[in-house]
Amino acid sequence: MARDVVLKVENVWKYFGSVIALKDINLEVYRGELLVLLGPSGSGKSTLLRIIAGLEKPTKGHVYMDGEDITDLPPYRRDTSMVFQSLALFPNMTVYDNVAYGLKIRKIPKDEIDRRVDEILELVKIKELKDRKVTKLSGGQRQRVAIARSLVLHPKVLLLDEPLGALDLKLRKELHVELKRLHEEIGNTWIFVTHDQEEALTLADRIGIMNNGMLEQVGDKWDLYEKPATRFVAEFIGETNLITGKVKEIYEKYIVISWKNINIIAPRVSGVDRGSEVAVSIRPENISIGSKPITQREGTNIYKGEIVDEIFKGSYVTYYVRLKNGEVIRATVLSKDAEYDVEDQIYIYWDYDKGVTITD
Ligand code: ADP
Ligand code: MG
Repeated sequence: MARDVVLKVENVWKYFGSVIALKDINLEVYRGELLVLLGPSGSGKSTLLRIIAGLEKPTKGHVYMDGEDITDLPPYRRDTSMVFQSLALFPNMTVYDNVAYGLKIRKIPKDEIDRRVDEILELVKIKELKDRKVTKLSGGQRQRVAIARSLVLHPKVLLLDEPLGALDLKLRKELHVELKRLHEEIGNTWIFVTHDQEEALTLADRIGIMNNGMLEQVGDKWDLYEKPATRFVAEFIGETNLITGKVKEIYEKYIVISWKNINIIAPRVSGVDRGSEVAVSIRPENISIGSKPITQREGTNIYKGEIVDEIFKGSYVTYYVRLKNGEVIRATVLSKDAEYDVEDQIYIYWDYDKGVTITD
């Protein structure tokens, strides 16, 4: 089923002098979704959000909302509202005045302002703080005021730029639960920017991965995890073993890659020839460990190795296994099955289709 697109970014580029902050961004945002833009610092996330909000003009390209070209509209004529990392609250004003501010400058009648402010403060659970100065609030409470101040405008698209960045981990986790509930109750579209993959996986329906001014991949978070399109995405979401080598042989369903004197069997994908350079991403949880070689089936990777390190992570253990070519592969097993020790000689194995072949 085709999904309902509320916002579309088309071929957007942004230069700051000689710095290219965005390179040909194409993005469709669906009505009612919570899309997370995830990427390292400097990858262009804020610039993209600011272009959507109208705070920045693209050097090239267009932004559409519900089919209308809004590229040249000023921020106040767009149906968006932004929550900044700095929050940008008015420090000498009360919670009520901060939240009501945007409605006042839009000349909304006083009784409607009161009703809407009450409604939103109730939703973000700070109604009892209504008459308090924002300087007298905790970090988490200020955060709620900033979000209420944007939500009270009923924006079609809410933009949040690392809004929880300044808070400690415990508070961030509480607010993740709150934000998900708010998003579900309000039902509008949110674009949430973060550099934290755990935050992205917790909050998102879909995730867009940004790197170096490019949007590398957009999709359902499970698809990104299971089918990363690029090496960057494979390494940025979750943990993985990234193996690079040259294609030696090509069969119907799989290819054989030469990786520093070891042959790796990986799924065949289109566009690879003998001699092509490819990468294989294999997640540590998809690798099994045994003390004996299993009977080799067709398409199973099986290698002898030595455990050189183990890291206990509570419910599971990660083993670092050195293979005969000197490379180290990580394999995780549930703690209850973690029966090996450092210096043990073991075998690791995985079926070829547990790996993902990447050609970027
Ligand atoms: P992120 O939000 O992912 O950390 P930004 O969008 O802030 O990334 O920045 C992307 C790139 O654009 C960086 O190299 C940054 O230094 C540059 N940049 C952002 N804003 C400006 C500006 N106003 N002037 C010059 N360079 C900028
Ligand atoms: Mg930023």
